[in-house]
Formats: sequence, C-alpha cells, structure tokens
Amino acid sequence: MFFALFRNTPVASPRFIVSFSFNKIPTTRFSASKLGMPPSLPEPENPAPESSNATSVPKVRVYVRKKRPKKTLEITPTAVEAETRDQKLCSPPEIEDFAFGKDSSYSRLTQPPPANWEKVLQEIRKMRSSEGAPVDSMGCEKAGSSLPPKERRFAVLASSLLSSQTKDHVTHGAIQRLLQNDLLTAEAIDRSDEVTIKNLIYPVGFYTRKAGNLKKIAKICLLKYDGDIPSTLEELLLLPGIGPKMAHLVMNVGWNNVQGICVDTHVHRICNRLGWVSRTGTKQRTSTPEETRESLQLWLPKEEWVPINPLLVGFGQTVCTPLRPRCGVCTVNGICPSAFKETPSPSSTPKKSRINKRL
Ligand code: SF4
Repeated sequence: MFFALFRNTPVASPRFIVSFSFNKIPTTRFSASKLGMPPSLPEPENPAPESSNATSVPKVRVYVRKKRPKKTLEITPTAVEAETRDQKLCSPPEIEDFAFGKDSSYSRLTQPPPANWEKVLQEIRKMRSSEGAPVDSMGCEKAGSSLPPKERRFAVLASSLLSSQTKDHVTHGAIQRLLQNDLLTAEAIDRSDEVTIKNLIYPVGFYTRKAGNLKKIAKICLLKYDGDIPSTLEELLLLPGIGPKMAHLVMNVGWNNVQGICVDTHVHRICNRLGWVSRTGTKQRTSTPEETRESLQLWLPKEEWVPINPLLVGFGQTVCTPLRPRCGVCTVNGICPSAFKETPSPSSTPKKSRINKRL
C-alpha cells in the first residue's frame, strides 16, 4: 500500500521502501521480484511464516529500489555531424564523381566565387542561344564525331594540335581534307609523307611544324598506345606540340575524364574582362591561359568546367571580341567591370588614322 503511494513519486537517488505488516490486517507484500525487477537485496532464505498468531509488533521489511537509468536521447551538434558524415560515407557517389578525375588536384574549390557570376553566366547563355558561333559547328570537339571511338579520339587530338593560332573554320577545313584522304588515323599518318600532310592542312598557322608534329604523334601512338592516344593528362602533355589547353580538351572529349578547364585565348580574355580571375595573391589580371585556368578552378563549380569553354569561346567570337567588344549589345554591360573600357590596341589604330588623314 505504501509502495503504491510512493510509486509515482520521482526520487533522485536509490530509495528505501518500507513495508509494514500488521497482525490481522491482510497485507500484500511488494517486492522487487514480484514487480519483475531484480531484487536489490536478497530475499530471506527462510522467511518467517506469517501467522495469524503473530504479535502486534509490526514487521519492517526494507527493499532498495535502484534508480532507473534515464533514457533521455541527447542530440548534440557533434552527434548530428557524425551521423551526417556516416550517411555520406554510406550513400552512393555523386554522378559527377564518375566524370571528374578523383586524383585531380583541382577537385576542391578553395576560393569564394566572384559576385554575380551566376547571373553573368546565365546572361551569356541567353546571348549565345540567340546567335550562333563558329565553335558550335567547327570546334575541335566536333572533329570526327561520326567516327568510331578510337578514331574519334585521334581526330580530336589532331584537331587540337592544328587549332592553335588558327581560326575554327580553317582548322575544320584541314581536318575535313585529312578525313577525305583517309589520313585521320595514327597508322595512315605514319605511312603518309610529311609534304602530303603539310599540303592538306595548309593554311593552318605554322602548318609546316604542325605537319612534322602530327607525324611524330602518330608514331608515338603506334609504338606506345597501339594506335590509340594516351589516356592521361601527363602522357598527353609529353606529345610534341600539345599544351595544357589541348590536353584538357582531349581528356574531356576523348576520354570523358575531366581533369581541368580547357582555357584558350577567348576564355582567358573574357574571364579577365569580367574580373573572374587574378594572379595569385593580387588583384591583377592573369597573364597566361594557364594562370587563368588555375585561378578559375579555385572557385568555378566542377559541373561548369566542360561547358564553360564552348560557351565563352562562342561569346568571344560574337560579342566580347578581342579588339572591339560589342559592349553596347552585351546584356551584362551593367555589371561587367570592363564594359566600354576595352579600347583597340595601339597596333590596330594606325590603319584607321592613315585612312582619316587621306580623307
Ligand atoms: S560588357 Fe563588354 S567587355 Fe564586358 S563582357 Fe560584355 S562585351 Fe565583354
């Protein structure tokens, strides 16, 4: 009875429960074992029989109830972080992890992005969709698109080699002539003589040197890669005439393995005009495409690494042109730090002044 009174009383420490029994009063003894609890004190081995003849001296039994451990679930920020981390470890990898090289040193973004970059990119996409550019149909990534994978890779590599210092439509024409003459495989280039190749690729810039490099590349591909092209950035960069811009493009298009951004002269110029890149530790413009690539990769999300090249190349061919950017029709001229400030270089003005003098 007394225990019933104490049952719902919160007690902070082990407590003693006292049971009284009196003669002639029917009692119910509550013990830990009867309650389904382990007894804290052992039951007496020979308990004194209860007798109706017992004296009126009350028997006192003492039971100890242990305090039940609290089952409160304490959630701390550390626990939440640990759980989230565990879930991440167990969750399937992101799709982008398959496309982007896990060993790439550029896999972590380490710098906050410039203000409004997403708005600028969105506006450039809109401008690009309203006006076609040569890169859309004649860029290196389009080379040999109808060929089997191995031949396609060689076509992209050859096209990248020919593209430096050369306009897209000139490179495209040279690749088409090589293709029409069945000279767009490592075996065929190796068999062919250098003069034939030189004549076919003319008038790409530095066509004599490029014809020689194409022959050397074909030989290396045959001897080391069974007629295919190298599959790593490092090996591609060892090929004669192949620089970082071309190697990244070939990795992206040929092997679907994104190791870095392909930065050509258009991407380099436009990123500087927009104030997206700077030399390490300064606010000065970058001076080479390689510097631009390294600076851009510090903040540009990886899903933009491949599309940024054709997007900005086309924008550079049509709106943000090298000499006289069309800032008047550019929809980001309100936020571009270089808007209406890019003047033609001094080397391009004499012609104009000569014309004016004649007039
Ligand atoms: S405002 Fe002028 S300089 Fe700036 S991105 Fe547009 S075209 Fe280029």
